Amino acid sequence: MTKKIALNSWFKLPWLGADVFQQLMRAGVKHDKQLGFKFTSATDKQRAISILRSALNEEVEIEKACFICDSPIGEADIESPTLCDRCINADNAYSLYVLKFQSLLDKLK
Ligand SMILES: [Zn+2]
Repeated sequence: MTKKIALNSWFKLPWLGADVFQQLMRAGVKHDKQLGFKFTSATDKQRAISILRSALNEEVEIEKACFICDSPIGEADIESPTLCDRCINADNAYSLYVLKFQSLLDKLK
């Protein structure tokens, strides 16, 4: 079994002990009492994954979500552009991308 963790979305973990918890915090994993844990752009992903691998004793992978439609992309390279095949091949991919980007910018204002 491989545990898949999507970037920028909350996930739950069993209680793994204070030690593991602190290591995760130091690796920049976000934590919320209600929502659980989250990997963000500030997370040292390599480190967080190796902590989780040894703590959970199972394979852990980052699952990426498409930048445009939020559907999971699977085992894509962490640093590669985040678009799913459907969006990459869409005729209006560029305008979808720009629209999404604009909506993210608007949220920051
Ligand atoms: Zn997509």
